[in-house]
Amino acid sequence: MAKKKKMVYFFGGGRADGNGKMKELLGGKGANLAEMAGHKDLRLPVPPGFTITTEVCTYFYKNKRRYPKGLKEEVEKNLKKVEQLMGRGFGDENKPLLVSVRSGARRSMPGMMETVLNVGLTEKTLKGLIKETGNERFAYDAYRRLITMYSDVVMEKAAGIEPEEGRGIRRQLEQIMEEVKKEKGVKDDTELDGEDLKRLCVEYKKKVKEVLNKDFPDDPYEQLWGGIAAVFLSWNGKRAVSYRRIENIPDEWGTAVNVQAMVFGNMGNDSATGVAFTRNPANGENEFYGEYLVNAQGEDVVAGIRTPAPINSYSASEHNKDLVTLEDYMPDIYKQLCDIRRRLEKHYRDMQDIEFTIEKGKLYMLQCRVGKRNGPASVKMAVDMLKEKLIDAKTVVMRVTPEQLDELLHPILDPKEELRTRPLAKGLPAGPGGAVGQIVFTAKDAVEWKSSGKKVILVREETNPEDVEGMRAAEAILTARGGMTSHAALVARGWGKCCIVGCGSLLIDIDKKELRVDGRVLKEGDWLSLNGTKGYVYEGRFKMMDVSQENKLLEAFLKVCDSVRRLKIRTNADTPEDARRARLFGAEGIGLFRTEHMFYGKGSEEPLFKLRKMIISKTKEERISALRELFEHVKADIKSTLEAMEGLPVTIRLLDPPLHEFVPHQEDQLKSLADSLGISMDELEKRAVSLREANPMMGHRGVRLGITYPEVTEMQVRAIFEASAELLKAHKKVYPEIMIPVVCDKNELIKQKLIVEQVYKEVLKKYNLKSIPYLFGTMIEIPRAALVAGKIAEVAEFFSFGTNDLTQMGFGFSRDDIAGFLPDYLKENILPTDPFQTIDQEGIGELIKIGIERGRKIRKGLKVGICGEHGGDPRSIEFCHRVGMDYVSCSPFRVPIARLAAAQAAVK
Ligand code: PEP
Ligand code: MG
Repeated sequence: MAKKKKMVYFFGGGRADGNGKMKELLGGKGANLAEMAGHKDLRLPVPPGFTITTEVCTYFYKNKRRYPKGLKEEVEKNLKKVEQLMGRGFGDENKPLLVSVRSGARRSMPGMMETVLNVGLTEKTLKGLIKETGNERFAYDAYRRLITMYSDVVMEKAAGIEPEEGRGIRRQLEQIMEEVKKEKGVKDDTELDGEDLKRLCVEYKKKVKEVLNKDFPDDPYEQLWGGIAAVFLSWNGKRAVSYRRIENIPDEWGTAVNVQAMVFGNMGNDSATGVAFTRNPANGENEFYGEYLVNAQGEDVVAGIRTPAPINSYSASEHNKDLVTLEDYMPDIYKQLCDIRRRLEKHYRDMQDIEFTIEKGKLYMLQCRVGKRNGPASVKMAVDMLKEKLIDAKTVVMRVTPEQLDELLHPILDPKEELRTRPLAKGLPAGPGGAVGQIVFTAKDAVEWKSSGKKVILVREETNPEDVEGMRAAEAILTARGGMTSHAALVARGWGKCCIVGCGSLLIDIDKKELRVDGRVLKEGDWLSLNGTKGYVYEGRFKMMDVSQENKLLEAFLKVCDSVRRLKIRTNADTPEDARRARLFGAEGIGLFRTEHMFYGKGSEEPLFKLRKMIISKTKEERISALRELFEHVKADIKSTLEAMEGLPVTIRLLDPPLHEFVPHQEDQLKSLADSLGISMDELEKRAVSLREANPMMGHRGVRLGITYPEVTEMQVRAIFEASAELLKAHKKVYPEIMIPVVCDKNELIKQKLIVEQVYKEVLKKYNLKSIPYLFGTMIEIPRAALVAGKIAEVAEFFSFGTNDLTQMGFGFSRDDIAGFLPDYLKENILPTDPFQTIDQEGIGELIKIGIERGRKIRKGLKVGICGEHGGDPRSIEFCHRVGMDYVSCSPFRVPIARLAAAQAAVK
């Protein structure tokens, strides 16, 4: 690190060295503290403090866990400034300054790293604090909290000690507290008096020495530096590392450390602490939403140990509706908070998640950051904020991730089943949507069951950051304790997972792995169904349903996306039903109609039989007669789809798969085929064998069929033109696009085009029409086709990139056989992602770019799209936008995601 580089940034007293834009250097929390404290529009009452930069963290890890030179002096200099502003001294025996030491990475990692509060309390300063406040109970409460946190975070975790489950120092100290409470016959910590807490502190210190073999440090500076080191070390703690893997946060970022003057929410009944969101993070409503606890410290709210009270009547729930609101309890403070809420939203133009503390009737802002929210809430907030003119359309589309949008498209519990069934229990609706799964009681079980293919619901007393992998693995999370801002709620919301918290009627026996509720005993493996939108828990396994098509908000949001995007969104649809559904989702045409799909599934027996006859035909005459029989089916199928997509383009692909795929295997089917052709079973067998290929994917398929059997192309093209002609006659607008698959050379297309033009003329004549609007084009799905795209564009009026085959043939990976090796490629980091899901931009992407460039050089205005599976993948869609495609085509259910991804691509 260069010598002069600033390592410590001050904030407080209406000014700050840093600002909100410096997240990389100061971490999210530090940058926001600086912004809140120092920005001229805000200057909020933030307790003064300073941030040690993330660069110091990086240095620390690069240099054998040593600090850069000069850090000590900088810290001390800044600590002096804090002392001056607070009128207190660090280690001062009369007016001691206490500080908090907290982590803060660039991106929020809720609860994954460490915090130590009340640093600076020693035997000496403790006496001073008691003298000053006249409140022995408060001082000892602060001290026992420091001993607990410090011994856990600094003396145990940071020292690399890994105690057995349930034997950690924190747990052991908590047990002492439980015993004292039991002795006194009380339930709540707040019912312990000063004497009790004083005794606890003595016992705690004894226990620390006994378990960790070290005295609890009585020097304020030793505590401070111990805390700082522990925060840096917690960047590489187990929880933080797992969370980073899941959230794709790079290891190199490091964390900042925020040291800040302590203010106390536990100084008596005129003190409190709380957490709030400037809008409701669960549903997006523009209402101030939060919880607070009187006479408590912040960790009590987040830990979910006591049920917090609502800040206002809007925030009240079944569980806390009888508790007094902050609005009633401290109306002045509530007013100040409302004013801060307004200023914060105006300043940040986004929903903020804030932490506040009230110390003896004075309000302090401890934190603010962009609040995590689920999919439905993010869509609502974005749409509302546009209406409120807080943000513009481009910002709106960037506010919702494709994954969040997906949540709105995700299923819910079947409402009919819900109507019929009485809920077993009700909790707080922390994450919406429905989920069905089998009960597990530990995070470890959740991970194991999930990996064996089961769907699980993780049921916990309360969750803590250690559970994060289990929470990820579960379909949903259900907790007995905690509020809407408890750990489980925050994490689940961030992931858009169904989650119910604070379900107080659950009695969980983790040792027996059973759950008692509403007179029922449920065991591990039993099924639960959760409605996370309402907070209802049902016994059993409900059906799930999809409601996305009726969501007005979703529609409004997608309209904004449409106003921003350039790419058109089409769909891959093979049936009129698919086409209709995709239209409802906003598809602007069909990008791929696979004709062969009429030979699979419902109602396909007859056409399939006729197709088989055609395949098994030996002579041209036989084949033509079979094709004649098939013709009406093909025409009807195409006609109904063109009609469903009336007014929009429909790309109809001619028969693609190797014919052998359609030859039957069952004896009775073979027999009726032979009979209908008037040939023997032996003869049929011979013909079928002759169709077999060693490598059918690269065999007689796609355009090659049309080259060998021009009559197959002719029949299909006639079906397309006649269907179109009949619809045109009925005054319906149709735009068929004839697409030739698996092309590798211009001459293949020339041959096919001759057939198309001949049939076109004949159909015009037959229907007495002047023209049928149509395009003739090709798929680019063979690497050679991309390379000779210039020549191909002399004939083709459009290209559609078939990236499934292009990836298959570009990599030489059989798309049907990747399961055998691709997982290893991903695990070993040979490839960053599955190239069949996200376009490999480096290789296959180059082929696409070359194809477009060479094609458009010859034919200006060449229409270009994609119809491989990648057309529904957000990262691939961004690529398609960048390389100048006209449209992407994806499955009907992906259309909304594609509309969003295309809009985001346009903004980026
Ligand atoms: C492709 O290859 O990308 C494509 C869309 O065609 P299919 O998946 O039918 O081979
Ligand atoms: Mg293909």
